[in-house]
Parts: sequence; structure tokens; C-alpha cells
Amino acid sequence: MKTAKDYSQAKTLIYKPENKHCPHCGSKLKRSHTAWRKHIITLRGTLLVTSYAYRCPNASCPEPGALYRSTEAEALSLKYYQYGLDVVAKVGHLRFREYRTIRKARRILRDRHARANPHNIFLIYKNSKRAKNSYYFHSSRFPILFIVHTIGG
Ligand SMILES: [Zn+2]
Repeated sequence: MKTAKDYSQAKTLIYKPENKHCPHCGSKLKRSHTAWRKHIITLRGTLLVTSYAYRCPNASCPEPGALYRSTEAEALSLKYYQYGLDVVAKVGHLRFREYRTIRKARRILRDRHARANPHNIFLIYKNSKRAKNSYYFHSSRFPILFIVHTIGG
């Protein structure tokens, strides 16, 4: 049975660019529009994240059309992904280090308040496949490096 997703407990987070000034002319950046807003399921609960895009208001700036966003917000999840990178790393760890089944991975995630249906876990498994034989997988810092590898891959 398909159940409706409950986002009522989602914690709201708003992100602005880390740099407050234009890197080209030094003017103070101004808010332009909402770059994106989405729910992200993490091991610490569900977040409602809004990322604002800023632009330089200086008409004579050498890069007047450039948009600036928070790199921290971008690092929370992969593009088009609803799961936080911590969930992706956890699933990769459960699969490759602990050889868990999808069903077991689902139960472990649910215990950590990160609900995921079996199909989504399967997709994460599939997407984490290329990390399996990588140098990073064999590192003791696998979960962190797995994230780096996934972003960089
Ligand atoms: Zn500027």
C-alpha cells in the first residue's frame, strides 16, 4: 500500500550564499529569486530546504548576470535526489561493508527516522555501484570519501 509522505515535522532551513559580496567588483550581493526548495530526507530527520540565488546589483560589474548560491545547501543532496548525502553514504556502507539486503537497509534507515521505500533504496544501491571498486571504498574513511566520490563522479 502506498502511503502519503508526511512532511509536517520537517525542519525549515534557509540558505544564502556564503559570500556576501560580488567576487568581481566587491558590491554587496542582492537577493534575486528562490533557486530551489525541496524536502530532503536525512538521517537526522526531514528538512525543508530553501536556497536563495543572489546577484550583483552593480550595472557596471564585469559579471552582471552571475548568480550566487550557498555551496553548503548544494552539498546537502545530489541534484534531483530527495535523500541527503548522509543517507546515500549510509546505504552505500550497508551494502558494501555490511552486505545488507534492501529490506534490512530499509529497516535500519527507518530506525534512524529516514523513511525510504524499497524501490528508492534499490536506486541508491544502483547509483552507488560505481563506488564499489573505487579506491575510496577501501579507505577507512569510506562514508565521507564516498560522498566526495559521488559528487565528483
Ligand atoms: Zn559585481
